[in-house]
Amino acid sequence: MHEKCGVVGISLDGREAARPLYYSLYALQHRGQESAGIVTHDGFQQHEHVEMGLVGDAFDSDNLAALNGPQGIGHVRYPTEGGVNECCAQPFSVSFKSGSLGLAHNGNLVNADEVREDLAALGHAFTSAGDTEVIAHDLARNLLEADLVRAVKSTMDRIHGSYSLTIMHDETVLGVRDPQGNRPLCLGELDDGYVLASESAAVDTLDGELIREVKPGELIVLAPDGAGYDSYQLIDAPQTAHCFFEHVYFARPDSIIDGELVYDARRELGRQLWEESGIETDVVMPVPDSGRAFASGYAEAANEAGAETEFAEGLMKNRYVGRTFIMPTQDERERAVRLKLNPIKSTIEGRSVTIVDDSIVRGTTSTQLVSLLRDAGAEEIHMRVGSPPIVAPCYLGIDMASREELIAADRTIDGIEAEIEAESLSYLSIDAITEALNRTRADLCLGCVTGEYPYDVEGEATDRDVTRPSVGRETSHGD
Ligand code: AMP
Repeated sequence: MHEKCGVVGISLDGREAARPLYYSLYALQHRGQESAGIVTHDGFQQHEHVEMGLVGDAFDSDNLAALNGPQGIGHVRYPTEGGVNECCAQPFSVSFKSGSLGLAHNGNLVNADEVREDLAALGHAFTSAGDTEVIAHDLARNLLEADLVRAVKSTMDRIHGSYSLTIMHDETVLGVRDPQGNRPLCLGELDDGYVLASESAAVDTLDGELIREVKPGELIVLAPDGAGYDSYQLIDAPQTAHCFFEHVYFARPDSIIDGELVYDARRELGRQLWEESGIETDVVMPVPDSGRAFASGYAEAANEAGAETEFAEGLMKNRYVGRTFIMPTQDERERAVRLKLNPIKSTIEGRSVTIVDDSIVRGTTSTQLVSLLRDAGAEEIHMRVGSPPIVAPCYLGIDMASREELIAADRTIDGIEAEIEAESLSYLSIDAITEALNRTRADLCLGCVTGEYPYDVEGEATDRDVTRPSVGRETSHGD
């Protein structure tokens, strides 16, 4: 069960939190289109509305008006392959002996089954196959014996994997990031409160100020009246494992992730792509929307180096077609690419063309695109990709297809080039990624491009000496 999502948590000084939560979920819609949900607390009880579908369809004025209280959390969930998954829509909420809990999770635990079995043996009954319920039960259990901070610490010691969580315990909103910081989470300030969100674009949408990112292993506790926050560094891991694919594809270009504007990072990756494998063609064009920043950086570097190449749009996107990944069968995915993208003949006909995309996953998009451009009269088609070949699945929170479906899992780059029928194909190197993101390999999760993961994934190799931080350290308290 994968959790590929966006999370938010808000605490305000008296004003109802439902609308700001709703707007933040809109800002995070790209992180999940299967379901959307909000849980609020009015000081006496929790209110909840979770529904399948896009944010705009899941809520209306009536159900927003019923979500009372100045604090709450929200969630958007990514579609799982093969269709909808009603059981796992979030936030997950539960009432237990000493209070109520709501949880919104982005990431994926690698030891959820083990923790679930242990809790089941102690009498906990589970209603879903999701990780989030496991975290909720473990936390509820710990809260019977310890205060909030100690209870969260015990749960963090027990669960292993990637998680950025927003949690509501009675009227207190918390944010937690896993010790290796795999998924993003940031903290922002509003005029009358504080917000925790997967991406800073959500803070911008609320006219807030980004304060900083939540640190790996850190717990942030928002004061119930929106008056401030406390920080607890609960676990210090020797290394981080930030997901490089957030920078390449998943996050919005206008978000700041791990200290860097995603748009700038993508343009820099495009420049590196030219440095590594530039080829002069009449025109450079992006695969919209995900290739845009890469293609503009690539074309800029090309022209600086003396190439005379036009940077132009040669493919128009139908903005009402969702991500092709939502289509469950290969046949539908192929049709969806054609529905989604249409060539602008005048930019293409009789010309040599470079198309730039952020990534190739199954190869459906690139194969279809090359044939589309060929039909539109392109003389040569060169494909440049702003990430290394994706050779292995993601177990940590991004729906990336299974190993058998990945075009690069068992083919060389030459083999892929032949399969998509392009004149040339080049990917970006891992070194260019680390350079553009200003990080060492040791600080990134590169599992999908190396097949070696920074967490203990059953049956897979690791690139770490230690995948699980030592537990039981002292808690430091700041802010
Ligand atoms: P594919 O057609 O399977 O090779 O997918 C490649 C296209 O999907 C590229 O244009 C990417 O921008 C986009 N993409 C990459 N990763 C994902 C993902 N996890 N979910 C949805 N789309 C993705």
